[in-house]
Order: sequence, then structure tokens, then C-alpha cells
Amino acid sequence: GATIGILGGGQLGRMLSVAAARLGFKSAIFEPGGDCPASHVANYHHQAEYDDEDALKRFAESVDVITYEFENIPTSALDIVEAIAPVRPGRRALKVSQDRLTEKAFLADLGLAVAPFAAVDDAVDLAEAMAEIGTPSILKTRRFGYDGKGQARLSSPDDAENALADMNGAPAILEGFVDFDFEVSVIAARGLSGDFASFPPGENIHTDGILDTTTIPARLSTQAVAEAQGMAARILQKLDYVGVMGVELFVTPMGLVVNEIAPRVHNSGHWTQNGCAIDQFEQHIRAVAGWPLGDGTHYANVVMTNLIGDAVERVPYLAQDSANAIHLYGKSEVKPGRKMGHVNRITGPA
Ligand code: ATP
Ligand code: MG
Ligand code: MG
Repeated sequence: GATIGILGGGQLGRMLSVAAARLGFKSAIFEPGGDCPASHVANYHHQAEYDDEDALKRFAESVDVITYEFENIPTSALDIVEAIAPVRPGRRALKVSQDRLTEKAFLADLGLAVAPFAAVDDAVDLAEAMAEIGTPSILKTRRFGYDGKGQARLSSPDDAENALADMNGAPAILEGFVDFDFEVSVIAARGLSGDFASFPPGENIHTDGILDTTTIPARLSTQAVAEAQGMAARILQKLDYVGVMGVELFVTPMGLVVNEIAPRVHNSGHWTQNGCAIDQFEQHIRAVAGWPLGDGTHYANVVMTNLIGDAVERVPYLAQDSANAIHLYGKSEVKPGRKMGHVNRITGPA
């Protein structure tokens, strides 16, 4: 059988490996860390650093197709593996989404609504951006931010100096604060032959910058659901995308505003494991392996709750309720803010 190569060995890589196994594939992960979530379930673990050319070559030569669980793969590593095996989703999606500035510009070019934004490299840029965008606003590092890290909120111009200091000299982007009613995300997929499928949008609640819950269905009209899915379709089409993508949206009285895109399976899509026949992980494996896609139909309404840090201690209690499907990532060490697992609570038929 074919082998799926996965760059990254966290919980997303773990759940992709499980899905690959269910479809009869083997999986090989490339991950510098040893005792990582995906290493417990993948068939092969290439344990090496991303600057280890020989290890990258051996990895790529051992697989039929390569995918990834995070978007910050070094360009040099991609150059090496891409010369040996196809990388799906492709470079375009990575290039666009690795940098918040190129990401926002790409989305705006597509005609999608985004928060007002401006590049900020220094105090002069920030002063100009503030004059244009004003407050409230958010300064974010252009690269490597996740779970709300690398962000500083500005409620008045007086906050500028501290916010810039928080960036530690990294290139940043100032975004106008979107006064949203709530947040949703669309998990969508595009196949090798250009077919498209989307799960229904989920409604997301973040606590301390980290996704806390995703609820299906979201409080959206049929028309807004179609609009959100149509926006995702345009993004995937434009990127000639192959695989699953997470598209985060703000719901405002003026319509849907795109926050960011993630070129991979997404935490806000974990509910599909228990709400759909074909979940986001199987959908992604199908896409990168060139299979037809599942259609995104959901059969159950679900509330997904992340088990962050010592919330994982609630598992014995949560497991007593048969409506709770428990998913744990096999992480031995509990740390504050660390995603240890999630619970999908079935709330009724779709
Ligand atoms: P993720 O873990 O989803 O990748 P991230 O660190 O990349 O998160 P964002 O998604 O950009 O960060 O921001 C985190 C959260 O902060 C958003 O989900 C939203 O609640 C809030 N936020 C970000 N940008 C804005 C904005 N321009 N206006 C209002 N709220 C915002
Ligand atoms: Mg992000
Ligand atoms: Mg986000």
C-alpha cells in the first residue's frame, strides 16, 4: 500500500495518521521531537531536525505523497522534499498563509472582506498605520503566531509603544478591531480533480486567545452558511488547493469578514469526527491521496470542547456521560495552555 508522509507529529498529525490507517495507508511522520502524539500511532517516525537534508531526503523517498500539520515549515525543507514527492496542499497555500500580510492581501484581492490592515516594521510605520486605522486595533507578528500569541491590543494611541515592544522587533501587521457578533469557521476541502466539499460552519468561542469550544450548528441563516462556504470555495479554487483548509470568519452586522486561513486540518473541525460519516482527517487524506471527497454532510449536532491543561483531569467524569466522545492526544506532560485532548458532545440529530 501507499505511504502518506506527514510533516509534524502533534495531535493533528496523530489524527491524520489514524485516518490514513483506516483507509489502508501507512503513515510516516517527520518530527524532531521524540515522544510526540503522532509517534504513538504512525508506522514510521523520522526523528530529525528540519535542517537535516539527508533525513528529509530519506523521509521523502519513503513516502508517496507529503502533507503537513502546520504551516511554518521552513522553505529550505520544502525545497528538498518537494523535489522527491508531491507536497499537498502545495506551495502557494503555504506561502500565502505563512505571513499575515500576504494572507490579508491575497484575501482582499479576492474581493473578500478583511479587517483594515497595514504593515508595521517600526515606530514610524506604526504611527502611520495608527493614523489610518486608529483604535481599537491589534498589532500581530506577521509570522509564527498561534493561539493568540504574538499579539498586542491597542485600545488607545498611548498603547502604541508597549505594543511595538511586544513584537520584539519582528515584522508585524496592524489590524483594525472587528466588532463582531461571534466567530465561525468553515472547514472545506478540494480534491485533486478540483472537486469541492464543505462541512457546515461551526461557531467558535476563544478563551485567553485559545479555541475553547466549537458548536454545530452555528447561529447563521441558510444564506449566510452558503455565503461562508462560497467564500471558502473561492479561496481554495484560487490557490489550486488540494486538501482540507480551515477558514476563520467574523460574523458582523455588515456581513462576513475573513480573519485568517489555515492550510491544514483545523482544531475547529474536530467536531466532524463524531458529527459526520467522513471527518476532516479522512477528508484530508482522501484529498491528498487523490480519492473522491466525502460530501461534508453532518448527521449530528456537536459541541466540541478542548481539554486544555489540567482540564484533562475531568476526563473520568466526562466519560461517564455516553453523549461525550473523548479524544486524547497521548501527551504525558500537562502544561497550562497545552491542548491535551477534546470532547465531542453529541447534542442531537442534525
Ligand atoms: P489561531 O490559534 O486560530 O491560529 P492566531 O494566534 O493565529 O489564532 P487570530 O486568529 O488572528 O490569532 O486571533 C485570535 C483571536 O483574536 C481571534 O479568533 C479573535 O477572537 C481575535 N481577533 C483577532 N484579530 C481580530 C480583529 N482584527 N478584530 C477582532 N478580534 C480579533
Ligand atoms: Mg492562526
Ligand atoms: Mg485564529
